[in-house]
Amino acid sequence: MNSEKISANDIQGDAMSICNQPLSECNDCGLSEVLMCKYEVKDAIIFLIPFLIAFIPAIIGIISSGYGLWLIAYFGFMIFFFIVWENRILCSHCPYYAEEGKTLRCHANYGLPKTWNYHPEPLSRSEQIQFLIGVLIIVGFPMPFLIIGEQYLMLTISVVGVILWLCVLQLRTCKKCINFSCPLNRIPKKIVDEYLKHNKVMRSAWEKTGYRIAD
Ligand code: SF4
Ligand code: SF4
Repeated sequence: MNSEKISANDIQGDAMSICNQPLSECNDCGLSEVLMCKYEVKDAIIFLIPFLIAFIPAIIGIISSGYGLWLIAYFGFMIFFFIVWENRILCSHCPYYAEEGKTLRCHANYGLPKTWNYHPEPLSRSEQIQFLIGVLIIVGFPMPFLIIGEQYLMLTISVVGVILWLCVLQLRTCKKCINFSCPLNRIPKKIVDEYLKHNKVMRSAWEKTGYRIAD
């Protein structure tokens, strides 16, 4: 398995961009218009608000229905997922993981530790399936408690929040995200190819798995 840490020292004399180019190159790069290749607070807010619309009513509903102790398992799973499981199967393949520093600076997982080494190759099919299973567990876990506890108002708000969140992901976030091999990613191949021409570490790792850049 490929495992490469990119260092700012790889590029002498200039700060490094997320695609391993001198930051000064970003000024002339058209990809900055279509990709979230730099962390911006507005991207984090747009990602987070619909998630909270789903998450907060779910938590209130679980507590109101008397099943609050199950939140220990729920939060425990989330800690495991975000710091260990998702961190490896999804984030370790993301260009944000290659940045300097021990924590992520991205729109979705800002501040979480980089638990693993950077893996510039794309997600495997198994990792894509595992990621979807993990997301389903996080989204689906509260639902049975809300139904059994007859918390129908919280259930409705939470389901609307989940739908809204998925819409925001698919209509905006996933159309700009640079973790191209995530199963939810919606970047067209020609943009992916253009990015890979900038990011030589990632290009090499992708081509070793059989990926081909179109002529
Ligand atoms: S793709 Fe790379 S060079 Fe282009 S704007 Fe993004 S970080 Fe900068
Ligand atoms: S952008 Fe997404 S895949 Fe990349 S590090 Fe952040 S949460 Fe992980």
